[in-house]
Amino acid sequence: MRPSMFNVRVPLEDGNEVFLMNTFTDAQLIVSSDVAALLDELEERGPRAWTGDERDALGTLSENGFVVDSRDADHENLRRFFHEVRGSREQLRMTVLTTLQCNFACDYCIQGDHGEYNKNAAKMSLDTAARVGDWAEQRLDALQPETYVLTFFGGEPLLNLPVMFYLAERMSKACEVRGVRILVNVITNGLLLTPEIVDRLNACGLNGIKITLDGDRDTHNRMRPLRGGQGTFDRIVGNIRKVAHKTRIAIGGNFDMETAGSYPALLDFLKEQDFAGSLSKVAFKPVIRERAGQPAAAVAPAVKGSKFIALTAVGDKPLNGACMTSAGAAVSTSGGCDSCHMLDHEMAFLREETKKRGFPTVDGVHMGPCEIHRDNAHTISPDGSLYACPGFAGDTTQSVGHIDGRREAARSQAASRFEALSAWKECRDCAFIPVCAGGCTVAAYNELGSVEKPNCHKTAIEAGVISLARQAAADRSALVN
Ligand code: SF4
Ligand code: SF4
Repeated sequence: MRPSMFNVRVPLEDGNEVFLMNTFTDAQLIVSSDVAALLDELEERGPRAWTGDERDALGTLSENGFVVDSRDADHENLRRFFHEVRGSREQLRMTVLTTLQCNFACDYCIQGDHGEYNKNAAKMSLDTAARVGDWAEQRLDALQPETYVLTFFGGEPLLNLPVMFYLAERMSKACEVRGVRILVNVITNGLLLTPEIVDRLNACGLNGIKITLDGDRDTHNRMRPLRGGQGTFDRIVGNIRKVAHKTRIAIGGNFDMETAGSYPALLDFLKEQDFAGSLSKVAFKPVIRERAGQPAAAVAPAVKGSKFIALTAVGDKPLNGACMTSAGAAVSTSGGCDSCHMLDHEMAFLREETKKRGFPTVDGVHMGPCEIHRDNAHTISPDGSLYACPGFAGDTTQSVGHIDGRREAARSQAASRFEALSAWKECRDCAFIPVCAGGCTVAAYNELGSVEKPNCHKTAIEAGVISLARQAAADRSALVN
């Protein structure tokens, strides 16, 4: 017997109790410090003759996964866990980029409504959408999942309503005849969102809409203006107000060192709104940085200096690529990825500020494994190319296949690379592997130059565990009093 490597503990403020969590079983217990000390004894002194009370305590700890037979048992559990995650057939997930065009002219983004970008940016045709529908139905038949999750993303997905409605309606019918539950999500900047769009998607199984606000009114208007410089904050908030009673709305936002300070004011503003109570989630994340020292040839000139992912140039046209405002995986209920956390302290601070105002948010601990670790999660770009996660969409060197089944060496190699992803193996005995899986692969690729390296933000996860511990202690006090 020995303590599991997935145990984490937080001493509580009274000094006599300890919050214990096992990240593999997700068991969370508040125990007296002498019970926690039993784990140290197992580790340091090995088994001795236990008293009856100690045997009972160790029994409870074993049942909850805090005590295991050996370190090998932990490693074997981990190997099986990732194998099951990769092969899980419970859900078929598809993120469809209806277009790479965008109606925003974000100051820090070379895409969107700048110069000639939108003229050349890819947009899915109805013909391609029909083939995406054929492919999706074949995948449904092959996999027979319980749930089909369809997320629309871009660019700005609402700039291609015909494709969005076509796919939502077709897949809704396809799921109905197969007895599969469908969840439709949209990740949008919110500028074109209307009650009519929500009504039409509600009939197809709309699960929720995620909208990005990049800070308080002034900051957002500076970061995410229209081409003529007009602010977009008021119009987006007005649109949220019109639809909040019709569907679940999640608010996301991307901050950097400069803008993080404006988010408490945004939270205060949201709290005052009549729709505050119907927001399903509020969660902010840092933008992904480019890799320091990346060779100029590997980064398109227009991307240099921006905080956005470097994308591959296509001929002499502007770059193609998914909007990184919500990248990447559809791991949250409303479809946006919340895992790419870089500015650890700001992240933890904003999470606490969000909780303080009573908004549902992420706990900062249960962040993975994200969809890049799942074989049955696909991202489809406007031309029908397949990607392992939305964060890589548009970077043609990272495409893992195509809906038409074409066989190309580069895509096959990329597919093998992503199937074998296991950066977490470099994390050795880190207690957070089951909930982190080595961090965000897109961030590792951009910041460290490799999909094989962990992108570690352990301090952010530790802050999340401390917050869970405080919450558990507060809940327990409320129960007792
Ligand atoms: S690799 Fe990063 S961007 Fe892609 S799904 Fe995972 S956390 Fe999200
Ligand atoms: S990336 Fe860091 S926190 Fe995540 S599993 Fe690896 S070592 Fe642990």
